[in-house]
Parts: sequence; C-alpha cells; structure tokens
Amino acid sequence: MYDCGAESVAYDSIVLVKQVPDTANVTADAMKEDGTVNRGALPAIFNPEDLHALEAALEVKERFGGTVTAMTMGPPKAGEVLRDCLFRGADRAILLTDRRAAGSDTLATSYILAQAVKTIARYDFVFAGRQAIDGDTAQVGPQCAQKLGIPQITYLEEVVSLEGDTVRIRRNIGHGWEVVETRLPILATVIETANEPRPQAARRVMRMKHARATVEIEGAVRNGMPDADDAARQAEVKKRAEALRQRGLLIEQWGLDEIGADPARCGLSGSPTKVYRIQAIVLKKEGHTQVPATEEGVRGMIHELVVDRTLG
Ligand SMILES: Cc1cc2nc3c(=O)[nH]c(=O)nc-3n(C[C@H](O)[C@H](O)[C@H](O)COP(=O)(O)OP(=O)(O)OC[C@H]3O[C@@H](n4cnc5c(N)ncnc54)[C@H](O)[C@@H]3O)c2cc1C
Repeated sequence: MYDCGAESVAYDSIVLVKQVPDTANVTADAMKEDGTVNRGALPAIFNPEDLHALEAALEVKERFGGTVTAMTMGPPKAGEVLRDCLFRGADRAILLTDRRAAGSDTLATSYILAQAVKTIARYDFVFAGRQAIDGDTAQVGPQCAQKLGIPQITYLEEVVSLEGDTVRIRRNIGHGWEVVETRLPILATVIETANEPRPQAARRVMRMKHARATVEIEGAVRNGMPDADDAARQAEVKKRAEALRQRGLLIEQWGLDEIGADPARCGLSGSPTKVYRIQAIVLKKEGHTQVPATEEGVRGMIHELVVDRTLG
C-alpha cells in the first residue's frame, strides 16, 4: 500500500490470469452440447495477454515496491498458470475453484473474481489481460471494475508515473495514445504491446515446482491410490498438504463460500449467455481496385481506407 507520508512506497497488485484452450488448435469436439467449451479436447495455455498483465504488475513491484498476487478461476488444472506466475515472480497465488462455478459466462466470472478481490481487500492495482483468446469478449476486466466500484483503464500500454495514490497511464487507442490520470485503486486491462513478458526464473522453478493447491493434491492421490478408501486418501491429502504448507508451497484455494459469493449468481445458473455455435470464418478476397500511380490516386485510396476505418 502506498503511504504518501512514509519514505517507502509500495503498491499491491492482483493479476487476473486465465488458462485457455489453445484456439489455434480448435477441433470439431471443441464445444459441448450445453454451449460451453470442451476444455478436455484442447491443449491448455496461459492466456497470452495475461502474461503482459503479469509483467505490468511485476514492473510496478520492481519500480515502486509492493507485492503481486496472481489469481485464476478455473478447474484444478488451472493451477498450472498459477505456478507459471510464481516462476516468473509472483509472491502469492490463489486458485478459485468450485464445481458451482462451472459454465460461468462473463457476468458470473466477473462476479466471482470481484468477490475474490474484495476478499483480499487491500490492493492498489488489479491487472487483467484485455481479452481471453477463448471467449474473446474482453468483458471480464471492465465488468470486474464495475462490480468493485473502481476506475477502469483499458488498453494499458505503460504506467507512466505513480506518485502517492495518483497514477498516470498511457493507453493505446488504436490510432494514437491517450495519457489518463486517476486515483488508486484501479483495474487496468493490458495489451500485448505493453511489455515483453519475462521468462520463468530457473531458481524460482527449482524452488516452487512442487507448489500445489489442495484440489491438485486430491487428484494426484486419487490417481496414485486407486484402491484406497476415502479415509486413507483424505489422510494422505492432509499429510501432503501440510508438508507443502510448511515449505510455503501450498497454493491457496478458495471456493464460493470463502469469498461470500451467492451460488445463484455463479456457474450456469448465474449465466444468461448461451453460446449457440462456434464458426470458423474464412475471409475471401472479393474483387480488386486499381489505384492510379499518381499522388491523387494514392490520396484517394488513403481517404477511402480512413473512411472505412481500415486506417485510423
Ligand atoms: C466462442 C465463444 C463465445 C463466447 N461468447 C460469450 C459472450 O459473448 N458473452 C459471454 O458472457 N460469454 C461468452 N463466452 C463464455 C466465456 O468463455 C466466458 O464468459 C469466460 O468465462 C470469460 O469470458 P472471456 O473468455 O471472454 O474473457 P475476457 O473478458 O476476454 O477476459 C479478459 C481478461 O479477464 C481475465 N479473466 C477472464 N476469465 C478469467 C478467469 N476465469 N480467471 C481469471 N481471470 C480471468 C483475464 O485477465 C482475461 O485476459 C463465450 C465462449 C466461447 C467459447
């Protein structure tokens, strides 16, 4: 937290990261009957713009001090992106996972994420990617800001300055830049031109590669002890979780109850959006225009491109 009167100034950031199906490899069974994504059918990756959001948070920490907390909502497998965040420099990781959250659209997702941010309570920045490559809506960041009642700055390209609780941010607005100033806390959505995400740090990988959330330990125990009864499995999960906790490697895990979320506003019951179908659009060239190789011809072409907003 910033403290204008104190000598040391530090800022706490929360980064919203999403594990997404690799949409470069979409297959016919990519969607389930109920219109939700069949994640099992696609390889899972770190949503590309969220790496830039994480980098923006790490840069704030390096320039001004503070902490970085990575948070994701998803199935147990989403723990993978949290480990990635820890390897790159995040201080804390939280897995939001709850069966009642399955099938959430942007309305429900942003409600759950906002509830989790409120549960953390102390923060200066919430960073999110501009857009996830699966749902592709770019709605979750702005919806979270609205639910948190804080300013939202979209298309962040640079944190220009930070003094006390006043931040200046350069936004890329497509055909130019805009520098905006506001008071913290804020939510910012980050685009890929903002920075170059740092790679995982080898030492952190060595130190944290065994970090797991309880739900991941449960999965490993289920697979490793197929013949054991429930009590034996539970005892093993408890033992492994405690061993990780003592080494600072137990990833925090929150369900809807921990964040005070109303189950009716989560998952399919809280999601009015229904995806009807996914369609691959192939753009085809339609005719061509001959531009005279004169200054007037080129000027006319540029004018046309500006009018149809191809050029901004
Ligand atoms: C083809 C298709 C179309 C869809 N269309 C819609 C639609 O029009 N409306 C709708 O409401 N839903 C839609 N969905 C459902 C969509 O998958 C969910 O809404 C999803 O939970 C979040 O939306 P998004 O992926 O668009 O995220 P975006 O809003 O694009 O994500 C922006 C940022 O928010 C953060 N974020 C998003 N989800 C999470 C998460 N789970 N955990 C942590 N951070 C997160 C990340 O920082 C991310 O970069 C669609 C799904 C598909 C497959």
